[in-house]
Amino acid sequence: MRIFDPHVHMSSRTTDDYQAMYDAGVRAVVEPAFWQGQPRTSVGSFVDYFDSLLGWEPFRAAQFGIRHHCTIALNPKEANDPRCADVLEVLPRYLVKDGVVAVGEVGYDSMTPEEDEAFAAQLALAVEFELPVLVHTPHRDKAEGTKRTLDVVRESGIAPELVVVDHLNELTVGMVADSGCWMGFSIYPDTKMDEARMVVLLREHGTARMLVNSAADWGRSDPLKTVKTGRAMLDAGFTADDVDRVLWRNPVEFYGRSGRLELSDVDIDPTAGFQGSSVRRGQG
Ligand SMILES: [Zn+2]
Repeated sequence: MRIFDPHVHMSSRTTDDYQAMYDAGVRAVVEPAFWQGQPRTSVGSFVDYFDSLLGWEPFRAAQFGIRHHCTIALNPKEANDPRCADVLEVLPRYLVKDGVVAVGEVGYDSMTPEEDEAFAAQLALAVEFELPVLVHTPHRDKAEGTKRTLDVVRESGIAPELVVVDHLNELTVGMVADSGCWMGFSIYPDTKMDEARMVVLLREHGTARMLVNSAADWGRSDPLKTVKTGRAMLDAGFTADDVDRVLWRNPVEFYGRSGRLELSDVDIDPTAGFQGSSVRRGQG
């Protein structure tokens, strides 16, 4: 099984996770920019974070044979903090960089006027820079939030095939399917979607425009949920080709629209370093 996890926050994961993901067949990931579990207090924190998504983290992934890409944005939650508003001004210089395959995560957290403004502004940037967009949907009022999300996407004029609306469930999948946008599903250990429910949705809605991710971060999550969903699909009678479509070809097609995916095999160089740092410890 070859796997492309289209939404996983690797900066919060360990080297054991990278190794386990590689062993399970993960060869490529997209790491969306998001918040840090506690508020950032300045634009400089974002700049350093974006630089790590384009520098240290791809280096770390490559040490485990995995190609790492990222999406860049002011996330919905921090769009509400006036100290972070100027992040919008630094985005253009990141959106031209190799390794940045979309604008994201954008969208709604609490559906405030500040979030409205940041969401619309970043959809406009995606249009201007001809990039796909990763749209987060709120965990509260999900149906209402997703409906409003789709309205804002429509008003922006962006082509729906350049948009993935993520964190969907049984309540929200239908309206996103009808919109022409891609459908993203985060598979979690305890809450929201699990593998069994995902298999049912794939049976009902088919495999086209479907993206399955682990969304793993520093909260309770599991970076192997992609492979576990693949296994659940096989157990339920889907073919290996169906699994390959959902877990590899779909993310390649979607993020490939950036023109910036790098999917060649990684030559792992265990002696390599990045700006004087390495993933080796205690080995000189
Ligand atoms: Zn996320």
